[in-house]
Amino acid sequence: MACPWWYHQRYRSLVRSPVSRSTIIAKEFRWEMGHRLPNHAGLCRNIHGHSYEAHVKLEGVPDASGMVMDYFDVKTMVQPLIDELDHCFLCDTTDVVMQAFFADNPMKVVVIDAPSTAENIAAWLLERIANRLPTNHAVTRLWVRVYETEKTYAEVSMTLNHVAS
Ligand SMILES: [Zn+2]
Repeated sequence: MACPWWYHQRYRSLVRSPVSRSTIIAKEFRWEMGHRLPNHAGLCRNIHGHSYEAHVKLEGVPDASGMVMDYFDVKTMVQPLIDELDHCFLCDTTDVVMQAFFADNPMKVVVIDAPSTAENIAAWLLERIANRLPTNHAVTRLWVRVYETEKTYAEVSMTLNHVAS
């Protein structure tokens, strides 16, 4: 059965007006990292680690090549941050016990000025990814979701003041 005339008109109008819709792309990253929450009342105060996963999402209007951003460029932008965290101990600045330990036993440590929760790791990544966006980017919104386990994640986002070139 043929589609009614309005179906084609509606479909064509959607295709022709990209400004009316947004497109989100995403890329996933994984790394291993140790941490602890020194002020946590439960098990999280102990030294332990997670297989972390970050989902980086970027929203924008695809350019003439049909891309919000080339996935290769997303990896170039994000992977150095993941490499910085991979197999490190993420140490809260208030954790004097661990800082004293690492002063005597040099290892890969990244210091974070907040408790090393999934929320703060996501914020750490979000801020740095936003600062690494190319100057001519067309991204209007950025999300970072950090999985601490398979079933638990924290997500942060920011709207970017995009100035059309
Ligand atoms: Zn943990």
